[in-house]
Amino acid sequence: MASPYDVIVLGSGPGGYVAAIRASQLGMKTAVVERESLGGICLNWGCIPTKALLKSAQVFEYIKHAKDYGITVGDSNADFNAVIKRSRGVAESMSKGVQFLMKKNKIDVIYGTGKLKPGKKLDVTDKDGKATEYSAKHIIIATGGRARELPAVPIDGQKVIEYRKAMVLEKQPASMLVIGSGAIGVEFAYVYASMGTKVTIVEFMPNIVPVEDEEISKELAKQYKKLGVDIYTSSEVTKVDTSGSGCKVFVKTKEGEKTFEVDVVLSAAGVVSNIENIGLEEVGIKTEKGKIVTDDFYRTNVEGYYAIGDVTKGQALAHVASAEGIICVDKIAGHHAEPLNYNNIPGCTYCSPEIASVGYTEKAAREAGYDIKVGKFPFTASGKAKAAGAPEGFVKVIFDAKYGEFLGAHMIGYNVTELIAEVVAARKLETTGHEILTAVHPHPTMSEAVKEATEVAYGEAIHL
Ligand SMILES: Cc1cc2nc3c(=O)[nH]c(=O)nc-3n(C[C@H](O)[C@H](O)[C@H](O)COP(=O)(O)OP(=O)(O)OC[C@H]3O[C@@H](n4cnc5c(N)ncnc54)[C@H](O)[C@@H]3O)c2cc1C
Repeated sequence: MASPYDVIVLGSGPGGYVAAIRASQLGMKTAVVERESLGGICLNWGCIPTKALLKSAQVFEYIKHAKDYGITVGDSNADFNAVIKRSRGVAESMSKGVQFLMKKNKIDVIYGTGKLKPGKKLDVTDKDGKATEYSAKHIIIATGGRARELPAVPIDGQKVIEYRKAMVLEKQPASMLVIGSGAIGVEFAYVYASMGTKVTIVEFMPNIVPVEDEEISKELAKQYKKLGVDIYTSSEVTKVDTSGSGCKVFVKTKEGEKTFEVDVVLSAAGVVSNIENIGLEEVGIKTEKGKIVTDDFYRTNVEGYYAIGDVTKGQALAHVASAEGIICVDKIAGHHAEPLNYNNIPGCTYCSPEIASVGYTEKAAREAGYDIKVGKFPFTASGKAKAAGAPEGFVKVIFDAKYGEFLGAHMIGYNVTELIAEVVAARKLETTGHEILTAVHPHPTMSEAVKEATEVAYGEAIHL
């Protein structure tokens, strides 16, 4: 058995590697175990490579509309393989960055597949099948998640694919049907549609991006229709026949049964946690509805074992995983740690137009019994948005009418994922609408729309 550690983290995604760095910063002897690439799904197969693909798609869109900006360009083409190559290069360089951080923070990286054992131990089996036992005072489980497979739509990795394959297809499909319109589904729909693939989205819920405020969903549906994406909501894929050259997809829609012939089906119906075969049962760690059960400081029911990130019940987002990792380790080290407020987690979708939101939707605020003030400012009235050639979308803010509490904000438009942090900070500081009204925002910026929407909510609009 190798010498004991203070902390071993199983999994090196944004939960695991951030927790490891914090542990090392706090003077703990730390190791991280990884079976694949440092940085986890986020850096290698999630947040980062998708954003690289989206940027290529956006550049292509710009070029297609260059004339609108007074620029003439010749014929342009999206070189699909070059776009994929760029995305993989960005992911690889980010993973190397984590490698550097591990070295800088003197964290041991143990490559192999880890399995927990009782007594705060774990076995790591390397690629040659050799198992080594390690032990630590604290073991943090951060094994993340993978694509959910729908029983009616088995993923074959060729014609019915999940997000990983969608990032590395050898050839651009002429047509694609995307199942699910959460962040992953609509981001890929945008990438492929803007590069010329005929995209159809099938969503089970009544609106696309179903967790968002209804007005946001409607605006995105409007913009996607302009892009040529066909959308079927309140619809369900019942079967995919892959026996022919492409896929024959059977869909139960509001108007009855429909059949679609497409090259490829992208199953983007959410993620499930990697909690199988990691030794949870042997150690006696409790799970519930496919997630590891923890307290507010990510302690499981077994002393010395913790769980963070996509294996726990919080939102499956990179920044949530990292925040949980920091809180977990601070608590282990005996530092002050505050439980995370899961109602103040921003959610961003990087399609075009972008979506960003935090806090209550209008419907949820009403259902929670709040008397609310709502303000909406369209980007058609924003000088910066007009100058950028991006007047689509709006910012919507929701305040409690009685005390002015900032209950939520919902944005759709150019670069709005950069605007939401203001609202997160405002909510964290328990800012009221009046303080937003008197905080001077720079002109011309997209961020002015947050203040202007607040002016609308308080009946003080200048530019509407
Ligand atoms: C296509 C896509 C786009 C996304 N875009 C965004 C985005 O823009 N913003 C955002 O916030 N979130 C995004 N996400 C979600 C985000 O990637 C996850 O929430 C985040 O990666 C979770 O971090 P984690 O540390 O819990 O686990 P992961 O990042 O999943 O990392 C877990 C790691 O553990 C390793 N592992 C698992 N089991 C073992 C084992 N037994 N032994 C050794 N190693 C093991 C895995 O190889 C993996 O490297 C996206 C996800 C996808 C799929």
